[in-house]
Formats: sequence, structure tokens, C-alpha cells
Amino acid sequence: MKVKVGVIGYGTIGKRIAWAIALQPDMELVGVVVRTPDWEAISAIKKSLRIYTLKEKIGAFEKRGVKVHGDVEELLKTVDVVIDATPGGVGVTNKKLYMNFGRKAIFQGGEKADVAEVSFNALVNYNEALGKNYVRVVSCNTTGLLRIIHAISQVSKIKRVRGFIARRGADLKEINRGPIEGFVLDPPRPPSHHALDVKTVIKDLDIVTYAIAAPTTLAHIHMLHFTLEKSVTSNQVLEVLANTPRILLVSGDMLTSTAELRELARDLGRPQGDIYENVVWSDSIWVNGEEVMLTYAVHQEAIVIPENIDAVRAVTRLKERAEESIKITDETLGIKKWL
Ligand code: NAD
Repeated sequence: MKVKVGVIGYGTIGKRIAWAIALQPDMELVGVVVRTPDWEAISAIKKSLRIYTLKEKIGAFEKRGVKVHGDVEELLKTVDVVIDATPGGVGVTNKKLYMNFGRKAIFQGGEKADVAEVSFNALVNYNEALGKNYVRVVSCNTTGLLRIIHAISQVSKIKRVRGFIARRGADLKEINRGPIEGFVLDPPRPPSHHALDVKTVIKDLDIVTYAIAAPTTLAHIHMLHFTLEKSVTSNQVLEVLANTPRILLVSGDMLTSTAELRELARDLGRPQGDIYENVVWSDSIWVNGEEVMLTYAVHQEAIVIPENIDAVRAVTRLKERAEESIKITDETLGIKKWL
């Protein structure tokens, strides 16, 4: 029996989750809740997804000649799990509905941590989400941070992490967001919320992050400085990163920018040029005894997609172990296979 999944919110994250769910051998995408019959609905129509919408929006879809299978409640009647990918703050309101229908729900990083029982990253705390009703997949930056922190923790216990994050100012479609010029301290006073969000998953970690918003849509860049409990070598760091799922190494001799990286992903046939992995520049790895520094890119539109898939397997106990779920997700999405 496949687990039946519904996706609520068909924007940047929701549509990618829906497409990824449709590829899973143990899941069935029952349908997606699309809010308005605008340009974003076109892909759902063209991809023949079952469209549901809000009760008050059904008329607007019909007016455009778009077949709607029902309202949100109709979808909730037929699914085992919902993935809420609505804008931050909407999910917590929707939660009441999911509770009324007794449905398990996965929320996104734009929601406050207390929307769920667990803030989730597949590599770090899959076990904590087993059988839970409400799980929050942390944001793109936090997902990127947690994967790298997890990898480095395999070579030595970590004393502290200090990080600098250059955030993409907006996603490609976000015509009303910026900055269009200049770097914005976001926030001016550290820590940025990313460090605090990491602590919702690894509670006792000493971590501080600074962040700026930069005029780019392509990806975030993180530069991290670790202080470890014991001395390590560059080879140990390289090896552990190479062997950790969802982390890719590239050489600075090959490419030095997020622009070339995204272009390469498009050239190699990644859908929408999506990159699910943390892409670490191997040349950026600097090791001095107990200190490690490195730089990597995070494609904000894609990095949380595999985590959402694993969250479904954890809450439904389709797989009891993180490695088993990660393996299936990564194979179906071609993770670490394209470069
Ligand atoms: P988005 O605005 O691109 O998509 C949200 C979609 O939900 C829109 O299509 C909107 O019309 C729809 N919507 C709004 N209210 C709705 C409702 N009541 N019912 C159904 N649909 C509704 O936003 P996004 O970037 O996909 O972000 C979604 C969530 O994912 C947020 O929590 C965000 O913080 C998180 N997230 C975003 C990114 C990113 O870089 N875009 C990365 C990681 C996590």
C-alpha cells in the first residue's frame, strides 16, 4: 500500500515537493491545493495533477475552464499525510483543519518551530520524527547548515560554529522583493535567525551566524568556521564530506560562482536547474589543527525537497531508519549522480 499524500500550496517549494512525491515508489500524490488560477497553476494543469482549491476559489477556476476536483476538505478526506507549503504563518492556521481531519502534517521552515512536535533534518534527527503527527522541515539555510554540521561532527565533536551567510535576496519569480542593489545586513545585530533555527534541531550546539541579503536569485553562500574538540586533517574533512549523502564537492578550478553552478545544473538536465545538495568547494576547505573553514552553496528552491520526502516516510514509519529513506529519495531524484 502506498502512502497517500496531498500538497497544500503550489508555489516555489510546494510544486517541487509535489513533483518529487510523484516519483516515489511508496507514495501516491493524490492532489495539490492551488490557490489561484494564475500562471503558477499552468504547470499543475499541464502535468495533469489533480487540482483542489479553497472553497471560495472554485468559481474562479471554473471561470477559466480549469477542472477542480474539490476543495481542501475533499483532499483531506482522502490523504494520509499533508505537506503544507503555504507562505510562512499560513501553515499554523491550516493546522487546525489538519487536526480536525486527524491528518499528519509536514510544515515548512517559514512556520515557527512550535507549529510541530519536531523540527526536522533527515541526516540529524530522522528518529525523532518517527510516528509523529506534526513535523517541520527547517528552512533552506538551516538545512544547509545542519547537513554540514552533521558531516563535520563525524570527524570530531564540535566545540563551536561561527558562520557567515550571504542570502539570495529573492527567488526568481519574486518581482516585489529585493534588494536590487547593495548588500543588506539581515539582521544588523547577530545572531541571524539561522543559528537559532539550527538549535531547534541540535539543541546544545554553540553556534552564531551573521547574514546579509544579496542582490541575487541563484543561491545562498555559507562560509563556516568550526572549532573542534580534536585536531583533524584536510583529508579527513574531504573524505567525510564526500561520503555524506546530499553533499557534493566541486573544485574551484572548475567553477567559482553560484552562476556557473546553476548554469551547469541546467546544462546537465537537472529539472529547472535544481540542486538538492550542499555544494562544497573542496579548495575552500582550510584546516589548522582543531579549526576548519569551508564555503558552500545552497540552492534555496531545491534543498528542502528531499527532506520533505523523508519526513513523510518518518511520520508514517514507511522506513524506520534514515539511511533507508535517504537512499530511496536520493535515487529517485538523482542526487549526487549528476555531477
Ligand atoms: P510561495 O509564495 O512561492 O508559495 C506559496 C503558495 O501557497 C503560493 O502559490 C500561494 O498562492 C499559496 N497559498 C497561500 N495561501 C494558501 C492557502 N491558504 N491554501 C493553499 N495555498 C495557499 O512560497 P514558498 O517560497 O514556496 O515558501 C513556502 C514555505 O517554504 C514557506 O514556509 C517558506 O519559508 C519555506 N521555504 C521557502 C524557500 C524558498 O527559498 N522559497 C526555501 C525553503 C523553505
